[in-house]
Amino acid sequence: MSYDQLAGQQELRLNLSAAIESGRLSHAVLLTGPSGSGKTSWGKLLSQALLCPDCQGINPCMKCKSCRTFLSGNHTGFFYLEPEKRKLKTEQFRAIRENLYLGSDLKVCLIDQAETMTAETSSSLLKILEEPPAGLTFILLAEQPRAVYDTILSRCQRYTLQPMSSSEIYELLIKYNKTDEDKADLLARLSGGLPGYAFDMADDADFDERFREAKTLAYNIATGRDSAAQLLSWAASLAERSDLISLLELVALLYRDGLMQSLCRRGDDFYRFEKPLIWTESVSSAGLEEAILMINSTIYELVATNVNRRLLLEKMLIMLQRRLA
Ligand SMILES: [Zn+2]
Repeated sequence: MSYDQLAGQQELRLNLSAAIESGRLSHAVLLTGPSGSGKTSWGKLLSQALLCPDCQGINPCMKCKSCRTFLSGNHTGFFYLEPEKRKLKTEQFRAIRENLYLGSDLKVCLIDQAETMTAETSSSLLKILEEPPAGLTFILLAEQPRAVYDTILSRCQRYTLQPMSSSEIYELLIKYNKTDEDKADLLARLSGGLPGYAFDMADDADFDERFREAKTLAYNIATGRDSAAQLLSWAASLAERSDLISLLELVALLYRDGLMQSLCRRGDDFYRFEKPLIWTESVSSAGLEEAILMINSTIYELVATNVNRRLLLEKMLIMLQRRLA
């Protein structure tokens, strides 16, 4: 386990610490924020702090028996649930349920991707939330809190993770020796304020090659240098790639970079970057925004449906070029 991504989030840190110290932390807490913002790391830190008898606010002592067993993954009062095959099933919940009522020790149940709870799981959880055993805290993590049942949401104290600045992410990447300065600058810039995403890109051995390809594709589309026949052949080769989603995400991030550049002003986080990563200066902000939406909706269709990949990509590339070039 690592708390690598826990820099920043000053407001969250202060609010959680204050709630713990004053005894006002609810027995059900919801942490929300986009994927890669560090929810799981924060959820685990909060769990460890709640179980530690010597914690200072949200900072566990890291030395006591509770902290040591927590860090080794053997704390008997800590229960972690995450979706199996994209769903948090009631059997998973049932397997730990009895233990939540055993003894009088402090207990924490951390539920990752709480939006994937089935109706049945939600109603089992609700029964416990209505009459919680003493000393038990639930921590729910959700990227899309609107997908969590209202009856559960209304019982949770809610905290939100904010995106970090690109300089904070740069410093984290350097501090943890993830990469050299030039690449840290690039990853911080692409990460959109999400440390988890920056760390994933830093750990990805194929990143440099894929980034080069994404740049070529994004640039060619924005400048309209490919014929319709060339776009169709791009679509055919992209459709075969196992890393298609990562590549499309990078193309969208490159357009986002152009958009941020065109919108930022002196004093903004992005102002320190002098020019966009690819040439998009002739494209309007509205055009870039539409391009990002188009790519994201293509990614959504690729992930969520059994669509013909090649046809979908042909359509996307032609529409992107028409909109941008
Ligand atoms: Zn401790």
